[in-house]
Amino acid sequence: MIVTTQQGMGQVALKELATVLSELDERFNSLNFLGEQVFFLPDNLDAQQVNEVKGLLGVAGIYSPPLHYQLASSVWRKERTGFLVDDIGVGAGHFQVMAGPCAVESESQMDAVGRKLRDCGVKFIRGGAYKPRTSPYSFQGLETEGLKIIREVADRYGLKVITEVVDRSVLDDVLYYTDVVQIGARNMQNFFLLKELGRIDKPVFLKRGMAARITEWLGAAEYIISHGNPRVILCERGIRTFDTELRNTLDVAAIPLIKSLSHLPIFADPSHGTGDRKFIKPMALASMAAGCDGIMVEVHPVPAQALSDGQQSLDFAELESLVKSLNSLKKVLPTL
Ligand code: PEP
Ligand code: MN
Repeated sequence: MIVTTQQGMGQVALKELATVLSELDERFNSLNFLGEQVFFLPDNLDAQQVNEVKGLLGVAGIYSPPLHYQLASSVWRKERTGFLVDDIGVGAGHFQVMAGPCAVESESQMDAVGRKLRDCGVKFIRGGAYKPRTSPYSFQGLETEGLKIIREVADRYGLKVITEVVDRSVLDDVLYYTDVVQIGARNMQNFFLLKELGRIDKPVFLKRGMAARITEWLGAAEYIISHGNPRVILCERGIRTFDTELRNTLDVAAIPLIKSLSHLPIFADPSHGTGDRKFIKPMALASMAAGCDGIMVEVHPVPAQALSDGQQSLDFAELESLVKSLNSLKKVLPTL
């Protein structure tokens, strides 16, 4: 259950409310959700308790969202959540493209990508320094060296960094260099890692697990938010279905579904969502039309030479064409 408070409520009234809630359920907790003080309890209160809380000074609303994704739910928060990454808006009407190679491979590769992104007006550069690969014999990433490269290139071209953290042991390393932390599909339900991400003060880009139900995905977001970090961005990156023709099935319907269930920003990743560069543009446009807040896409100077995911990486001409098409579509789309 969620209890929201009125704007500008004083410390004394907040404390009084906290005292009453702790008497009703000692597991109550509080969170500053982007400026709004919110109390949340693991269970719903009964009707008599609700009346008691309703009568307290400063209570704005009492809500009963689905219990395992309360803070992520749109039941208590009607407006779309948006926030700044430094000076760059994410969510709530700010459409963003996050682009770059699957993996950081070298300074020259990243420099070429960074310059191209700047020229295309893309604000976020992506690239993994720790790569979760299916085979232990595949390229595993440049680790700290890769983080340094992506940071330096981003600073050179005025970009923000998004990169993946695969384990708690490298979280501090990643946090030092990145602006946004990516949690990959394979780690979506690594609950101990998610709890750690609740304690950081950087946004988390939470990819959908490859066989995750929508409610499991929102439950994963809840882990991060309920541990103190409200800045969560969801990303639909394709799921496993019975069909094997494409690497994954991009679940475009998840975009409006998430928007009806949750206030969190929702992105789409048509690179992993299809596994084939031919289908990136149509699926990116379809995702934008479905109402997503941004696209993550893989780009490489020479996709055929990429050390990972080259077949689902755009070359520079294709990236330019994609960005142009997204900009044109944005102009004619109705607001969803
Ligand atoms: C990636 O973004 O390179 C990646 C590994 O994605 P996912 O976790 O969606 O497979
Ligand atoms: Mn990849």
